[in-house]
Amino acid sequence: GVEAEGGRVGGGGHAAAFSFYPGKNLGALGDGGAVTTNDPELAESVRRLRNYGAQVKYQHERVGANSRLDELQAAFLDVKLPHLDRWNARRAEIAEQYSHALASLGLTLPWVAPEAEPVWHLYVVRHPERDRVRAALTSAGIETSVHYPRNPGDQVAYAHLPIDRTRLPVAGSLPHELLSLPMSPVMTDDQVTLVIRALQAVLR
Ligand SMILES: *Cc1c(COP(=O)(O)O)cnc(C)c1O
Repeated sequence: GVEAEGGRVGGGGHAAAFSFYPGKNLGALGDGGAVTTNDPELAESVRRLRNYGAQVKYQHERVGANSRLDELQAAFLDVKLPHLDRWNARRAEIAEQYSHALASLGLTLPWVAPEAEPVWHLYVVRHPERDRVRAALTSAGIETSVHYPRNPGDQVAYAHLPIDRTRLPVAGSLPHELLSLPMSPVMTDDQVTLVIRALQAVLR
């Protein structure tokens, strides 16, 4: 649904990948994803990769994975897809309310690129005392998240990589400052106001 540089993402490049993880703007009821491309050869290649590297059953031309989109998930997505633009518009409305009301509270608000029309999967703010802000919201009954509490380079899985952390001061501070505010197309105006009031109360 994102508009950027005059078109929707997914159609501009050689290929694009989408996640239908349940929490996404277009979420299945289980895991799922899709790749879009205008290149028939690449499309064929992706079809094979998701199916054990086989185009014809039991003939494996390359090593692949079991990553087919389950038919039931596809059916759920088919039902939800016509509502996506409306849901994204509601997310944009909520983001607008947040951006307007939270402008001068010492939070770093999301930056929107010129000519981009984001669809607000998350609404992520930054604050040097994130944990204090988060605790106040929790006390007010408002759930928040942190995306993400640890940088990829600080994961055990990448411990073998020679990463010079002194050269990544911004990335280093982000896990301690990021806070994802409630964002969902089913939020009511009253709920948005509740979040805003709670943030005003803790930051003013
Ligand atoms: C959703 C999401 C992922 C994970 O997507 P999968 O469908 O689980 O592969 C990774 N990174 C970001 C930023 C995401 O929003």
